[in-house]
Amino acid sequence: MKKVVIIGGGVAGLSAGIYAALNGFDTEILEMHSVAGGQCTAWERKGFRFDYCLHWLVGTSKGPFYDIWRETNVINEQTEIIDHDIHSKIIDKNGNEFFIYSNIDRWEKYLIEIAPEDSKTIQKMCSDMRKSALIEPFALPPELRSPLDSLKVIPVMLPIFRIVRKFGRLTCKEYFDKLNFKNERLKSVPSEAPIIVNITKDSKIGRTSLEHGFSVMNYSYDPTMAPDGKTTIVLRFESPWRLWENLEGEDYKNEKKQIEKDAVDCLETIYPGITEHIGVVDVATPLTDVRYTGVKDGAYEGFMPSKENMMKSLDLQLPKLKHFYMAGQWLFPGGGLPPSAQTGKWVVQLICKKEKRKFLSIKE
Ligand SMILES: Cc1cc2nc3c(=O)[nH]c(=O)nc-3n(C[C@H](O)[C@H](O)[C@H](O)COP(=O)(O)OP(=O)(O)OC[C@H]3O[C@@H](n4cnc5c(N)ncnc54)[C@H](O)[C@@H]3O)c2cc1C
Repeated sequence: MKKVVIIGGGVAGLSAGIYAALNGFDTEILEMHSVAGGQCTAWERKGFRFDYCLHWLVGTSKGPFYDIWRETNVINEQTEIIDHDIHSKIIDKNGNEFFIYSNIDRWEKYLIEIAPEDSKTIQKMCSDMRKSALIEPFALPPELRSPLDSLKVIPVMLPIFRIVRKFGRLTCKEYFDKLNFKNERLKSVPSEAPIIVNITKDSKIGRTSLEHGFSVMNYSYDPTMAPDGKTTIVLRFESPWRLWENLEGEDYKNEKKQIEKDAVDCLETIYPGITEHIGVVDVATPLTDVRYTGVKDGAYEGFMPSKENMMKSLDLQLPKLKHFYMAGQWLFPGGGLPPSAQTGKWVVQLICKKEKRKFLSIKE
């Protein structure tokens, strides 16, 4: 039996391991941490579960990503998928609230209600979003795609290319700026953020100036996250690596304490009076991430997507390294769980092709 050795038991490594085992390879995963999962992890403190990673998951209804979650048993009959009616609530420094609904039709209606003078622009934006939602990831790695596979995506991709060409960029903010909303309130619609996002920019958490504000995810809808009648809340903010790379010893400990204090103050702005009800606090930093997973610069999701790299991906193989394949979030800009799992599958598809075996995605 041929052997597949996988370095790293993150989502990509685990996916590769599952498909390799399914396809009859003697499979071994070497993981440097004491638990598998890599950046997709959670931990418990006094009965409260802190979910470090998952706040959205692409591929919960259909398509190639969904197939992977089913084939690897991430999603099965027992899994409950919660599609929130409201995707996020945005709050500015004056306490004004703005909602993003998960359903585009619902959101379009809401936007037109609050800014009828922008009806045309809103309809245009929502139409662009509907077109973008039709994009499906490729099921096969580039090396195994037929010309027909590439041709099939043209009707879906063409309108998207037109949008990108017209607006020049793919980032949410620049797209928004170019839409030219008349209504001041709509001009400030920010980003793709989860649940509650405070866009106040002029404050700090620890040493970090909040350039993009902070987001708060309240898991009160999920009884598995905390003891009865209680909840777990995760507050996230982005912090540049340069603030962390040389931080150690007492300075690091003090920074974590300061973050705890400032973060609780931030929570007070959303849930006044919450401080006295907080039972457990834990602070994870980019250095925590590096310590447990070795990820470069404490980054999440690999490369930051930009106009230049958006349509590019790295090859799964390196020249001259015959039996070596790469999988994981760093192969695509904007990584994340689905591409990580997908590249694990792709690698095994390539190995099967090389070994002249029929690739199996389910146990026969
Ligand atoms: C805070 C946060 C929130 C996120 N939220 C989301 C989200 O909501 N949705 C989403 O889709 N994605 C999210 N992501 C991104 C997602 O978690 C990652 O893209 C994905 O888990 C990466 O998987 P991976 O297998 O490519 O890499 P990793 O998770 O980094 O796995 C690599 C593994 O290899 C191991 N390893 C490294 N070097 C060695 C070595 N030399 N020897 C042995 N083992 C080694 C590491 O310990 C690790 O287990 C989030 C990430 C973070 C940090």
